[in-house]
Amino acid sequence: MNEELRCIGCGSIIQSEDKQGLGYTPASAVKKGLETNELYCQRCFRLRHYNEIAPVSLTDDDFRRLLSHIRDTKALIVYVVDIFDVNGSIIPGLHRFVGDNPIMLVGNKEDVLPSSLRRNKLQDWLRQQVNQAGIRPVSTMLVSAKKNHQVEALLDEIDQRRGDRDVYVVGVTNVGKSTLINQILKLRTGVQDLITTSRFPGTTLDQIEIPLADGHQLVDTPGIIHPEQMAHVLPDKDLKIVAPQKEIKPRTYQLQDQQTIFLGGVARFDYLKGPKVGMVGYFDNNLPMHRTKLANADHFYAKHFGTLLTPPSGEDAKNFPPLHRFEFAAKEKSDLVFEGLGWMTVPAGSVVAGWAPTGVAVLMRPAMI
Ligand code: GDP
Repeated sequence: MNEELRCIGCGSIIQSEDKQGLGYTPASAVKKGLETNELYCQRCFRLRHYNEIAPVSLTDDDFRRLLSHIRDTKALIVYVVDIFDVNGSIIPGLHRFVGDNPIMLVGNKEDVLPSSLRRNKLQDWLRQQVNQAGIRPVSTMLVSAKKNHQVEALLDEIDQRRGDRDVYVVGVTNVGKSTLINQILKLRTGVQDLITTSRFPGTTLDQIEIPLADGHQLVDTPGIIHPEQMAHVLPDKDLKIVAPQKEIKPRTYQLQDQQTIFLGGVARFDYLKGPKVGMVGYFDNNLPMHRTKLANADHFYAKHFGTLLTPPSGEDAKNFPPLHRFEFAAKEKSDLVFEGLGWMTVPAGSVVAGWAPTGVAVLMRPAMI
């Protein structure tokens, strides 16, 4: 097998020996792919045609190894985060492994946040969020890769800032990095859907390089797997329900203390202490929410999990991890965030608890809205 052949979807080296390995492609498919000039590895082929993804193992360490050479290169870093899941998008130690290279921050999926929310306010909020993680970007932009919103402006900004540098696009999986690269390809080269995109983590496996006008490259790096994403505990069909695809319509609940709201069967919000208020939730419009009394909540969950409280449902409910409880006191107006799922905005002085499946983080941050 020719070692130089690469999948045009993910960039893996094509091989026909190891079925579980990256880039596996049956020999017959390689032949056909070469004839039609559309050589995809089996994994990307299946993803494109059946919307199915095989699990992938790109760990933190592998990722760091792959990217560590950026530190010694003169580069512009384009760091893509999911504005709906900022905490789940943080790459700890980003500055360390990109060295002195400047970082441009791109908040993707701005189309899922309410359009009434002022974009410059949102931009400031986003910058503060990453500052807290020790990341100091030279600029911050909001885009929607999917809606092709502000992508052209982003490219102009990149061109202005890169000078004599290659551009490296980095991000954890699921932030929409592949979708963004696809848009860039469309805008700059007219090639459509060259790179695989998916709702599932870990899709882009190897480096893909897009030539820029002056001999420099725009390099798409593999997504780093963030272990605390909801995407790792839910099957894909349920992920479609909990991960917002469209603009979120905030939902207001009149709540008093000692009440509980279930977010399908995947999470739970307890209002422990505080005034009677209208509390606003920012979750996918299709995620069913149920209110009950706190005293009755455990029983309610045990009885209705997987039936009334879905997703998950059926067989998936049987293998679903248990919910863990995290308690917080809000000093100021805050968001109780269920990572990857959304958040409830809670008033100053309240005490609340959030429950999420094992491995999914619950945290409190200053209110976005
Ligand atoms: P990657 O793992 O970072 O490469 O992410 P993908 O490009 O595969 O996208 C992950 C999921 O996010 C897919 O379901 C995309 O359709 C979705 N997505 C990507 N960009 C956007 C966006 O701008 N808005 C919305 N609403 N969804 C997006």
